[in-house]
Amino acid sequence: MSQLEDLQAVSELVRAGLATTRREIGKALSLRSTTVSELVGNLVSSDILRENTTPPRGRGRPATSLSFNHLRLAGIVIGVIDRTLVANAVDLTYRVIGKQSITPPPDADNKEMADCIRKLVLATVEQLPQGIELSTITLSISGLLDKPNSLWCFTSRWPKLKNLNLKEALSDQPCSIDIIRNLDAELSGIQINEKHAKNENSLLLHWGEGIGASYSADGVIVNKSRGRFCEIGHWSLGNAQGKPCTCGNHDCLETVAALWAIGEELKKTFPSLALNENDVADQLSKVDPMQSPVLTEGLKQVLRVTTNLCKLFFPDRVILTGPFVQNPLIFSKFVMAFESASLLDNQERIRVSVNSASMQDEIIGALHQPLESGLQRLVESSLQHEHH
Ligand SMILES: [Zn+2]
Repeated sequence: MSQLEDLQAVSELVRAGLATTRREIGKALSLRSTTVSELVGNLVSSDILRENTTPPRGRGRPATSLSFNHLRLAGIVIGVIDRTLVANAVDLTYRVIGKQSITPPPDADNKEMADCIRKLVLATVEQLPQGIELSTITLSISGLLDKPNSLWCFTSRWPKLKNLNLKEALSDQPCSIDIIRNLDAELSGIQINEKHAKNENSLLLHWGEGIGASYSADGVIVNKSRGRFCEIGHWSLGNAQGKPCTCGNHDCLETVAALWAIGEELKKTFPSLALNENDVADQLSKVDPMQSPVLTEGLKQVLRVTTNLCKLFFPDRVILTGPFVQNPLIFSKFVMAFESASLLDNQERIRVSVNSASMQDEIIGALHQPLESGLQRLVESSLQHEHH
């Protein structure tokens, strides 16, 4: 192994809690004690590892133990909930150490949105513990992105926003700026948290304020690096109803099924319904969805599109997210639809699950790559550190 690989191995060993002394490190990695001391010295002088000395009990030398400095780097992820931007800051254990939100007005243009994002970042950075270094800000957003150019091209939630350059908007921040489609982040986080097998193909379907999907084949999320994929909410139904959609077209799937389109009509059947994703999930889980004609029709169309998607992708697993699928009857309709859509008698059953509304998966999925690369760069640069 190269010196850098050794250094990384030492860092990971202590981070995982598998070694707390030089002796344990040497044993685990079969390294000589002088080599271990040098590597540990590098990591300690970069403040990646910390050395803790406890006074001796009685006679003898003080005992020293090593610990990983989880507060060495922070990452901030900015997500969208309904029409609010929510920022979560995490340390290297992905524990949330700061949280702020801001609600840009519905008619926010590029300038106003950029101002809102900057304000949100400043407020979140202020909450960070002293001495922690901000490594990345990742924007986990909905709509159409141009990831290579860091552009937020379009979102139906703020229709006046167009091709907002997020790297430029946050150019005063001394850290990496990344963007990711929120559904890609959620799927990626679920795969990390649930330790999915690499060869498993997964389709994530979100049905809520908007409708969209993300797909992972052989451990790779399709089109993740471009930031646009599977905009099934804007697939045309061709039903000639002439219903305008937020994207500027007519008769998209969203016009008969998205919360933004059917919310008011839903309230005719369920008058106490709150029309935001967070509250509506809990309320919808307790009603009979078939009482509402608009929901019955919406479900029919969403099922039709998703079963068609299954014939395109042949996923091993379908993960349903958003408020509607929290309803047990709606969930069972999905399970039945996938079973009856199977083309082969002996085809393995698709595993269907519902993901909770928590942001934890999205946070890990959005920050894992940039934050781990940030740590890797830090470990690399510690090689150059002088120490004694
Ligand atoms: Zn549309």
